[in-house]
Amino acid sequence: MAMKALDIYKHLPKTNCKKCGYPTCLAFAMKLATGKADVEACPDLDPGAKALLGGVTRPPVRAVTIGAGERSVTIGEEFVLFRHEKTFYHPPGIMVEVSDTWTEVEVRSVVDEVRETVVHRVGQDLVLNGVAVRNESGSADRFAETVRLAGGGSSLPLVLISDDPTAFEAALAIAGQYRPLIHAATADNWEPLAALAKQYGSPLVVRAGTPADLAAITAKCAEAGVADLLIDPAPGSLQGYITVATEIRRSAIERTEPALGYPIYLDAGALGETDAAVATGILKYAGIIVTPRFSRASREAALTLRQNIYTDPQHPIQVTPGVYPINNPERDAPVLLTVNFSLTYFTIVGYLEASRMPCHLLIVDTEGLSVLTSVAGGKLTETMVADALKKFGVADLVDHRILIIPGYAAPLSGKIEDATGWKVMVGPRDAADLPEYLEKEWKT
Ligand code: SF4
Repeated sequence: MAMKALDIYKHLPKTNCKKCGYPTCLAFAMKLATGKADVEACPDLDPGAKALLGGVTRPPVRAVTIGAGERSVTIGEEFVLFRHEKTFYHPPGIMVEVSDTWTEVEVRSVVDEVRETVVHRVGQDLVLNGVAVRNESGSADRFAETVRLAGGGSSLPLVLISDDPTAFEAALAIAGQYRPLIHAATADNWEPLAALAKQYGSPLVVRAGTPADLAAITAKCAEAGVADLLIDPAPGSLQGYITVATEIRRSAIERTEPALGYPIYLDAGALGETDAAVATGILKYAGIIVTPRFSRASREAALTLRQNIYTDPQHPIQVTPGVYPINNPERDAPVLLTVNFSLTYFTIVGYLEASRMPCHLLIVDTEGLSVLTSVAGGKLTETMVADALKKFGVADLVDHRILIIPGYAAPLSGKIEDATGWKVMVGPRDAADLPEYLEKEWKT
């Protein structure tokens, strides 16, 4: 089981010497409890305490990086079973598969699609992560050639899927320097595959039908010197995947079976209903999801779901406070107030840009909370609005002194007028109604 900060603190020297980089032993204990510090940072820990704390404070699911360079993807390093307990840290890598029986045109078309898919949402660029090359030809040369066509791992991370060590040798001779993920070591072939993974420093997937068998093989691979492992429980159905993935994650989080403390690999295409399988993998613990080529709509749905699940609920995506010009506003343009919750900002901007109405959008820092929540929680206040008007020099941008506040902030309208000296107009609650509201109500 993970240890709480106070329990960890009991094992520290309690001298507050600061050698670990933290002001007190308690501060260090709090960092250890969340996996954000390493016990090695305290030079005065006795070996027994170091061994004990090291075992309980490292991430229960190991962090593994696939690929090299800008597009590499790091997965794992998770601490909780349920997102509402804390947060999920590393979104699963989504890899689109190609077969080495395909033509060059077919392979290149998927690779280009993966490379070029970008979904812009609430200020973030959401992308697919790589290509999975499946050895279906039975030929090592053909496999290696398809790996080369897929970029060899130099631009996109690769998954190499085969059961033939000779095919892996040929493919790794091309892609080995870019840390491709090798799939999969089984009870029968783990030794040569572990040797190849060790030689190239590549992460390795272990595949078996039960958690006990998976743990047995991962333990052998780890002993052979391969630290970066993934687990493929080879589920026969979507329901089967949910059951076994939950069991594996629970064992890892509760540290009842350290040999299962690795990210999970999901072959979504093998389960039929690909879209549902991809979504399930995102929701339930997959570190890598391999999927057949899917439609633009399905890609967008998967990337949006992944963004939502892997956004820290305690730290919503935020935009930088400030005053933003929309549609080239001049000095008679309205000034609209809103909060720095990204979804709110981008929704409003979308409607305003479409309306072509020039305006200034004043964003205040409510720590990423929505208007309704920040008003209810006291995060949006008249003082904050007055400070923001002053700080961002809004009075210098316009000739009027009128501020349009969101409908949900109506209870603050009088206080904002008193604190700022600006006349306040209460806008609509729904951003979709802003263009019509401005057209009817805005007169300087
Ligand atoms: S180095 Fe060790 S003893 Fe010193 S403050 Fe950090 S945890 Fe405490």
